[in-house]
Amino acid sequence: MQMGFYFDQSRCTGCCACQVACKDWHDVPAGDEKWMRVLYSEKGRFPNVFVAYLASACWHCAAPICADACPADAISKRENDGIVLVDPEKCLGKDDCGAKCLKACPYDAPQFGPEENARMHKCNFCEDRLAENKVPNCVEACPVRALDAGPMEELETKYGTGRTAEAFTWSKRTRPSVILKAKSAE
Ligand code: SF4
Ligand code: SF4
Repeated sequence: MQMGFYFDQSRCTGCCACQVACKDWHDVPAGDEKWMRVLYSEKGRFPNVFVAYLASACWHCAAPICADACPADAISKRENDGIVLVDPEKCLGKDDCGAKCLKACPYDAPQFGPEENARMHKCNFCEDRLAENKVPNCVEACPVRALDAGPMEELETKYGTGRTAEAFTWSKRTRPSVILKAKSAE
């Protein structure tokens, strides 16, 4: 089984509630380290401007290239549900290793704090909540229900198999576990 996310870009208002809820649940300090990021893209010229937001976490890829890139074997994919986890104790640290996971990831998901030789952290699909059959905190926090999470097969039955959204490129190489509904410029 593979757990994954659904993101409906047409609903997202860019309120960042998911980003804040993630930081709050995982006690991530204020600052640039964000396990869930809300990205912003803009096209066109005033008054014909098209704006879209993209909630971007770790997509727990079917083929996690971050794990292959890690020289310390700190990143692994869990067999029973496919979530990709990092063991910060094994991580060599950003400076000593050169953040190879971050360089390899097509989605900039690996995150580092401001401290010297910071160890990598990232979205862990709220594994503690998952153990209690709860959705990740970002999903629960979204006021417009732009996010969902669950087994990929169930998500596909519910939402289809959309792989495109503004500012998102589906990686054939890593096969991210996310289904998207794009925001249309029309
Ligand atoms: S999104 Fe990046 S960090 Fe997450 S599993 Fe895929 S390659 Fe690894
Ligand atoms: S920064 Fe840590 S987790 Fe990332 S590749 Fe290096 S040792 Fe592995």
